[in-house]
Amino acid sequence: MDLKDTFMLSNGEKIPRVGFGTWQSKDGEEAYQAVKTALEVGYRHIDTAAVYGNEASVGRAIKDSGIARSDLFVTSKLWDTALAKEDAAREIDESLSRLGLDYMDLFLIHWPNPLPTRPHFAERNAQVWRAMEDAVRAGKIKSIGTSNFHARHLLPLLEVAEIKPVVNQIIINPSVQQKELVQFNQEHDLLTEAYSPLGTGKILGLSELTELAEKHGKSVAQVVLRWSVQKGFLPLPKSVTPARIRENAQIFDFTLSSDDMALIDGLQGLAGTARNPDENSH
Ligand code: NDP
Repeated sequence: MDLKDTFMLSNGEKIPRVGFGTWQSKDGEEAYQAVKTALEVGYRHIDTAAVYGNEASVGRAIKDSGIARSDLFVTSKLWDTALAKEDAAREIDESLSRLGLDYMDLFLIHWPNPLPTRPHFAERNAQVWRAMEDAVRAGKIKSIGTSNFHARHLLPLLEVAEIKPVVNQIIINPSVQQKELVQFNQEHDLLTEAYSPLGTGKILGLSELTELAEKHGKSVAQVVLRWSVQKGFLPLPKSVTPARIRENAQIFDFTLSSDDMALIDGLQGLAGTARNPDENSH
C-alpha cells in the first residue's frame, strides 16, 4: 500500500486512502509550498475548504506540480454562509474559480447546523444539496458528501437526496473515536474521512504513544496515522513543515499488532473530545 492506493466510493469513484490537510495553512507561500511539497512527496489527495481561505494557493500548487488532473483528488467544502440553493450554486462556482479547476473530485457540506438557520438544519441542508446535485450533473463535482454530520443530520438528508452522499468527514483520532458514528457511516455506505488525525498536534505527547513509537522505530505521528489506516479510516494529516510532510507519508513500511491497536483504542478521551455541531460553529 502507498499514498496512491485508493478506496472505491459507493458511487464507483476512486479516492486516495490518505489525504493532505490544509486547515490553518496560510494563504500565499505557506499553503502553496505545503501542497507543492506534499505533491512532490507523493500525496495525490488534497483537502481544502472555502473557509480556510487558501483555495487559490492550493490551486496554484496543483497547477505548478504538472501532475495530470486525472491523477489528483481535490476536495473542498461549502461554508455556513450558503443557506439557500442559489448561495450554494454561487459558492461552488467561486471555489472552482479560486482553485482554477474545471471540477472538484469531492465537495462537502462543511457543517451540518449553521447558526443563522439553527435549528432548521434539515431544510437548509436539503436546499444546498440540490445545488450540489446540479453541480454533479453539470460535471462540476464528481462526488458529494458531508462533514461533521451525525446520524440526526444525515437521516433527513438521505431521505431527500437524489444523489447520495458518499463521504462523511469527521474528527477521528485515538482520543476522539466516535465509534457509533463510524458504524452509522458504514451502514449507510459513507466512507469515514478522519480529520485532525493527529488531534491538531495535541495527542502527540501521550506517553503511551511515545513508548509504542519507540518500539517500532517510528514517530508518534506515524504510529497514529498507521492506526487510522489500519482502522479503515482515510486520514487527512496537515503540516506546513517539509520534514513532517515526508514523515507523515512514511506509514506503509510497518504494521501495528492487534495488541498495539488495542492499546491505542484505549486512549479515547485522553487528549480532547469532539465538539457538538448543534452547539458550536467554527
Ligand atoms: P492534524 O491532526 O493533521 O495535526 C496538524 C498539526 O500537527 C499541525 O500543528 C502540525 O504542525 C502538526 N504536525 C503534523 N505532522 C507532525 C509530525 N509528524 N510531528 C509533529 N507535529 C506534526 O490537524 P488538523 O486539525 O489540521 O486536521 C487535518 C486536516 O483535516 C485539516 O488540515 C483539514 O484539511 C481537515 N479538517 C477538517 C475539519 C472539518 O470541519 N471538516 C476540521 C479540522 C480539520 P505544522 O503544520 O506546523 O508542521
